[in-house]
Amino acid sequence: MFSGIPVTKALSPSDIYLSAHVIHQGELNLIRINTESGEIPLVTWMEKKVHLVPNPEKTDWIGFLGADLTASPGRNDVVVKMSNSGPEQRLNMEIREKDYGVRNLTLPQNMVDLDAETLARVRKESAVTNALWEAEPSSPLWDGPFIKPVPGEVIGPFGRRSVINGQPRSPHTGVDLRGKKGTPIKAINHGRVVFTGDHFFSGLSVVIDHGGGIQSMYFHMEKIQVQQGETVKKGAIIGFVGSTGRATGPHLHWGVRVNGARIDPSQLVDKSNQLEE
Ligand SMILES: [Zn+2]
Repeated sequence: MFSGIPVTKALSPSDIYLSAHVIHQGELNLIRINTESGEIPLVTWMEKKVHLVPNPEKTDWIGFLGADLTASPGRNDVVVKMSNSGPEQRLNMEIREKDYGVRNLTLPQNMVDLDAETLARVRKESAVTNALWEAEPSSPLWDGPFIKPVPGEVIGPFGRRSVINGQPRSPHTGVDLRGKKGTPIKAINHGRVVFTGDHFFSGLSVVIDHGGGIQSMYFHMEKIQVQQGETVKKGAIIGFVGSTGRATGPHLHWGVRVNGARIDPSQLVDKSNQLEE
Protein backbone atom coordinates (compact mmCIF):
# COMPACT_ATOMS: atom_id res chain seq x y z
CA MET A 1 0.00 0.00 0.00
CA PHE A 2 1.35 3.46 -0.91
CA SER A 3 1.47 5.83 2.00
CA GLY A 4 -0.65 8.95 1.79
CA ILE A 5 -3.33 7.32 -0.39
CA PRO A 6 -6.54 6.90 1.59
CA VAL A 7 -7.80 3.36 1.79
CA THR A 8 -11.40 3.12 0.69
CA LYS A 9 -13.48 0.97 2.94
CA ALA A 10 -14.86 -1.93 0.99
CA LEU A 11 -18.54 -2.69 1.26
CA SER A 12 -19.24 -5.78 3.26
CA PRO A 13 -21.95 -8.02 1.82
CA SER A 14 -24.29 -7.08 4.67
CA ASP A 15 -24.34 -3.48 3.43
CA ILE A 16 -26.20 -4.55 0.32
CA TYR A 17 -29.63 -6.12 0.32
CA LEU A 18 -31.12 -7.66 -2.83
CA SER A 19 -34.72 -8.86 -2.54
CA ALA A 20 -33.86 -11.94 -4.65
CA HIS A 21 -31.09 -13.37 -6.80
CA VAL A 22 -33.58 -14.67 -9.34
CA ILE A 23 -35.90 -12.43 -11.31
CA HIS A 24 -38.48 -13.65 -13.80
CA GLN A 25 -39.47 -11.81 -16.96
CA GLY A 26 -41.81 -8.93 -16.05
CA GLU A 27 -40.77 -8.90 -12.39
CA LEU A 28 -39.13 -6.36 -10.13
CA ASN A 29 -36.37 -6.74 -7.56
CA LEU A 30 -35.39 -4.29 -4.88
CA ILE A 31 -31.86 -3.21 -4.03
CA ARG A 32 -31.04 -1.47 -0.77
CA ILE A 33 -27.59 -0.22 0.22
CA ASN A 34 -26.40 1.16 3.55
CA THR A 35 -23.53 3.60 3.35
CA GLU A 36 -21.37 5.58 5.74
CA SER A 37 -19.75 9.01 5.68
CA GLY A 38 -21.23 10.46 2.53
CA GLU A 39 -20.45 7.62 0.16
CA ILE A 40 -22.70 7.45 -2.90
CA PRO A 41 -23.38 3.98 -4.31
CA LEU A 42 -23.41 3.53 -8.07
CA VAL A 43 -25.44 0.59 -9.33
CA THR A 44 -25.48 -0.78 -12.86
CA TRP A 45 -27.67 -3.57 -14.18
CA MET A 46 -28.06 -4.77 -17.76
CA GLU A 47 -25.76 -1.95 -18.92
CA LYS A 48 -28.05 0.68 -17.41
CA LYS A 49 -27.62 2.88 -14.39
CA VAL A 50 -30.05 2.02 -11.59
CA HIS A 51 -31.37 5.21 -9.99
CA LEU A 52 -31.24 5.13 -6.22
CA VAL A 53 -33.28 7.18 -3.80
CA PRO A 54 -31.60 7.99 -0.46
CA ASN A 55 -33.13 8.63 2.96
CA PRO A 56 -32.71 12.24 4.24
CA GLU A 57 -29.45 11.27 6.03
CA LYS A 58 -28.15 9.72 2.79
CA THR A 59 -27.16 6.52 4.58
CA ASP A 60 -29.79 4.22 3.08
CA TRP A 61 -30.34 3.99 -0.69
CA ILE A 62 -33.02 2.08 -2.54
CA GLY A 63 -33.68 1.29 -6.18
CA PHE A 64 -35.62 -1.06 -8.42
CA LEU A 65 -34.37 -3.61 -10.93
CA GLY A 66 -36.97 -4.50 -13.54
CA ALA A 67 -36.71 -7.37 -16.02
CA ASP A 68 -38.60 -6.71 -19.24
CA LEU A 69 -41.45 -9.04 -20.16
CA THR A 70 -39.34 -10.35 -23.04
CA ALA A 71 -35.86 -10.04 -21.44
CA SER A 72 -33.47 -12.83 -22.48
CA PRO A 73 -33.11 -15.45 -19.75
CA GLY A 74 -29.63 -15.89 -18.26
CA ARG A 75 -27.09 -14.52 -15.82
CA ASN A 76 -27.10 -10.72 -15.42
CA ASP A 77 -25.10 -9.61 -12.41
CA VAL A 78 -25.72 -6.38 -10.53
CA VAL A 79 -22.62 -4.20 -10.27
CA VAL A 80 -22.19 -1.96 -7.21
CA LYS A 81 -19.45 0.65 -6.86
CA MET A 82 -18.95 3.37 -4.25
CA SER A 83 -18.57 7.04 -5.29
CA ASN A 84 -16.37 6.30 -8.32
CA SER A 85 -13.66 4.80 -6.10
CA GLY A 86 -13.14 1.53 -4.32
CA PRO A 87 -13.60 -1.98 -5.56
CA GLU A 88 -16.55 -2.97 -7.66
CA GLN A 89 -18.82 -5.68 -6.30
CA ARG A 90 -20.81 -8.09 -8.40
CA LEU A 91 -24.02 -9.60 -7.08
CA ASN A 92 -25.52 -12.69 -8.65
CA MET A 93 -28.70 -12.09 -10.59
CA GLU A 94 -30.37 -14.46 -12.96
CA ILE A 95 -33.28 -13.73 -15.30
CA ARG A 96 -35.65 -16.65 -15.81
CA GLU A 97 -38.41 -17.21 -18.28
CA LYS A 98 -42.02 -16.94 -17.11
CA ASP A 99 -45.10 -18.34 -18.79
CA TYR A 100 -47.96 -15.87 -18.41
CA GLY A 101 -50.35 -17.97 -20.49
CA VAL A 102 -52.06 -17.65 -23.84
CA ARG A 103 -55.55 -16.59 -24.79
CA ASN A 104 -57.04 -17.72 -28.09
CA LEU A 105 -59.54 -15.35 -29.64
CA THR A 106 -61.62 -15.57 -32.76
CA LEU A 107 -62.70 -12.23 -34.19
CA PRO A 108 -64.13 -11.13 -37.55
CA GLN A 109 -61.05 -10.59 -39.76
CA ASN A 110 -62.10 -7.02 -40.59
CA MET A 111 -61.76 -6.16 -36.89
CA VAL A 112 -58.19 -7.45 -36.89
CA ASP A 113 -56.77 -6.11 -40.15
CA LEU A 114 -55.97 -2.41 -40.11
CA ASP A 115 -56.37 -0.35 -43.26
CA ALA A 116 -53.34 1.54 -44.58
CA GLU A 117 -54.45 4.84 -43.05
CA THR A 118 -54.96 3.34 -39.58
CA LEU A 119 -51.68 1.46 -39.82
CA ALA A 120 -49.86 4.72 -40.59
CA ARG A 121 -51.57 6.36 -37.60
CA VAL A 122 -50.62 3.50 -35.27
CA ARG A 123 -46.97 3.65 -36.39
CA LYS A 124 -46.83 7.40 -35.81
CA GLU A 125 -48.37 7.02 -32.37
CA SER A 126 -46.01 4.27 -31.29
CA ALA A 127 -43.05 6.42 -32.36
CA VAL A 128 -44.35 9.13 -29.98
CA THR A 129 -44.61 6.75 -27.02
CA ASN A 130 -41.34 4.94 -27.81
CA ALA A 131 -39.54 8.29 -27.54
CA LEU A 132 -40.88 8.57 -23.96
CA TRP A 133 -39.38 5.21 -22.94
CA GLU A 134 -36.06 6.05 -24.53
CA ALA A 135 -35.74 9.48 -22.89
CA GLU A 136 -32.90 10.01 -20.40
CA PRO A 137 -34.32 9.39 -16.88
CA SER A 138 -34.89 12.45 -14.71
CA SER A 139 -34.12 12.64 -10.97
CA PRO A 140 -36.46 10.60 -8.78
CA LEU A 141 -39.69 12.39 -7.85
CA TRP A 142 -41.39 9.34 -6.37
CA ASP A 143 -41.40 8.88 -2.63
CA GLY A 144 -42.51 5.94 -0.52
CA PRO A 145 -44.92 3.19 -1.56
CA PHE A 146 -46.69 3.26 -4.93
CA ILE A 147 -50.47 2.96 -4.82
CA LYS A 148 -53.03 1.36 -7.17
CA PRO A 149 -54.67 3.87 -9.54
CA VAL A 150 -58.19 2.44 -9.02
CA PRO A 151 -59.44 0.01 -6.35
CA GLY A 152 -60.77 -2.59 -8.85
CA GLU A 153 -59.19 -6.04 -9.17
CA VAL A 154 -57.20 -7.34 -12.14
CA ILE A 155 -59.50 -8.55 -14.91
CA GLY A 156 -56.84 -8.79 -17.62
CA PRO A 157 -53.55 -10.26 -16.37
CA PHE A 158 -50.09 -8.97 -17.21
CA GLY A 159 -47.99 -10.77 -19.81
CA ARG A 160 -50.68 -12.95 -21.34
CA ARG A 161 -50.17 -13.54 -25.04
CA SER A 162 -53.09 -13.31 -27.43
CA VAL A 163 -53.52 -15.48 -30.46
CA ILE A 164 -56.13 -13.90 -32.70
CA ASN A 165 -57.54 -16.04 -35.50
CA GLY A 166 -54.50 -18.28 -35.18
CA GLN A 167 -51.99 -15.41 -35.37
CA PRO A 168 -49.77 -14.55 -32.39
CA ARG A 169 -50.06 -10.93 -31.23
CA SER A 170 -48.12 -8.76 -28.80
CA PRO A 171 -48.37 -9.84 -25.16
CA HIS A 172 -50.35 -7.75 -22.67
CA THR A 173 -47.82 -5.29 -21.30
CA GLY A 174 -49.94 -3.97 -18.42
CA VAL A 175 -52.87 -5.07 -16.30
CA ASP A 176 -56.54 -4.33 -16.89
CA LEU A 177 -58.25 -3.19 -13.70
CA ARG A 178 -61.99 -3.36 -13.14
CA GLY A 179 -63.62 0.04 -12.99
CA LYS A 180 -66.99 1.50 -13.86
CA LYS A 181 -67.13 4.36 -16.34
CA GLY A 182 -66.30 7.59 -14.50
CA THR A 183 -64.26 5.98 -11.69
CA PRO A 184 -61.51 8.45 -10.68
CA ILE A 185 -57.96 7.39 -11.63
CA LYS A 186 -55.17 8.35 -9.23
CA ALA A 187 -51.49 9.03 -9.88
CA ILE A 188 -49.63 6.06 -8.35
CA ASN A 189 -46.89 8.32 -6.97
CA HIS A 190 -45.52 11.86 -7.37
CA GLY A 191 -44.40 12.69 -10.89
CA ARG A 192 -44.69 14.82 -13.97
CA VAL A 193 -47.22 14.28 -16.75
CA VAL A 194 -45.09 13.67 -19.85
CA PHE A 195 -47.86 12.65 -22.23
CA THR A 196 -51.59 13.18 -22.74
CA GLY A 197 -53.30 12.24 -25.99
CA ASP A 198 -55.81 10.15 -27.89
CA HIS A 199 -54.25 7.10 -29.59
CA PHE A 200 -55.89 4.49 -31.81
CA PHE A 201 -55.31 1.51 -29.50
CA SER A 202 -54.97 3.12 -26.08
CA GLY A 203 -57.60 5.86 -26.49
CA LEU A 204 -57.34 8.80 -24.10
CA SER A 205 -54.01 8.15 -22.42
CA VAL A 206 -51.76 9.65 -19.77
CA VAL A 207 -48.10 8.87 -19.04
CA ILE A 208 -46.48 10.01 -15.78
CA ASP A 209 -42.73 10.14 -15.28
CA HIS A 210 -41.96 9.46 -11.61
CA GLY A 211 -38.25 10.09 -12.18
CA GLY A 212 -35.44 7.64 -11.62
CA GLY A 213 -36.50 5.70 -14.71
CA ILE A 214 -40.02 4.83 -13.45
CA GLN A 215 -42.95 5.68 -15.70
CA SER A 216 -46.63 4.78 -15.41
CA MET A 217 -49.34 4.80 -18.05
CA TYR A 218 -53.12 4.88 -17.95
CA PHE A 219 -55.20 3.99 -21.04
CA HIS A 220 -58.81 4.00 -22.35
CA MET A 221 -59.80 6.95 -20.18
CA GLU A 222 -63.17 8.67 -20.46
CA LYS A 223 -61.69 12.05 -19.60
CA ILE A 224 -58.21 13.40 -18.90
CA GLN A 225 -57.92 15.76 -15.95
CA VAL A 226 -54.26 16.85 -16.24
CA GLN A 227 -52.09 18.79 -18.68
CA GLN A 228 -48.86 17.67 -20.25
CA GLY A 229 -45.93 19.11 -18.26
CA GLU A 230 -47.95 19.33 -15.05
CA THR A 231 -46.51 18.02 -11.77
CA VAL A 232 -48.83 15.69 -9.86
CA LYS A 233 -48.84 14.41 -6.30
CA LYS A 234 -49.40 10.80 -5.31
CA GLY A 235 -53.15 10.16 -5.24
CA ALA A 236 -54.07 13.16 -7.43
CA ILE A 237 -56.97 12.48 -9.80
CA ILE A 238 -55.58 12.45 -13.34
CA GLY A 239 -58.75 11.36 -15.15
CA PHE A 240 -61.65 8.92 -15.21
CA VAL A 241 -62.19 5.32 -16.34
CA GLY A 242 -63.69 4.86 -19.79
CA SER A 243 -63.48 2.67 -22.87
CA THR A 244 -61.86 4.94 -25.45
CA GLY A 245 -59.55 3.47 -28.10
CA ARG A 246 -59.71 -0.25 -28.72
CA ALA A 247 -61.47 -1.49 -25.59
CA THR A 248 -64.30 -3.97 -25.21
CA GLY A 249 -65.78 -2.10 -22.23
CA PRO A 250 -64.89 0.33 -19.44
CA HIS A 251 -61.71 -0.63 -17.56
CA LEU A 252 -58.32 0.87 -16.79
CA HIS A 253 -55.26 -0.46 -18.59
CA TRP A 254 -52.37 0.34 -16.28
CA GLY A 255 -48.76 -0.13 -17.31
CA VAL A 256 -45.37 0.55 -15.71
CA ARG A 257 -41.85 0.81 -17.12
CA VAL A 258 -38.74 0.65 -14.97
CA ASN A 259 -35.61 1.74 -16.85
CA GLY A 260 -37.54 0.98 -20.03
CA ALA A 261 -38.46 -2.56 -18.91
CA ARG A 262 -42.13 -3.49 -19.06
CA ILE A 263 -42.99 -4.99 -15.70
CA ASP A 264 -46.13 -6.15 -13.90
CA PRO A 265 -47.42 -2.92 -12.23
CA SER A 266 -48.69 -4.85 -9.18
CA GLN A 267 -45.04 -5.71 -8.45
CA LEU A 268 -44.20 -2.02 -8.03
CA VAL A 269 -46.97 -1.63 -5.43
CA ASP A 270 -45.94 -4.82 -3.58
CA LYS A 271 -42.17 -4.22 -3.57
CA SER A 272 -42.42 -0.54 -2.64
CA ASN A 273 -44.70 -1.45 0.27
CA GLN A 274 -42.00 -3.84 1.53
CA LEU A 275 -39.87 -0.73 2.07
CA GLU A 276 -42.19 0.42 4.81
CA GLU A 277 -41.90 -2.81 6.78
ZN1 LIG B 1 -54.92 -3.81 -21.22
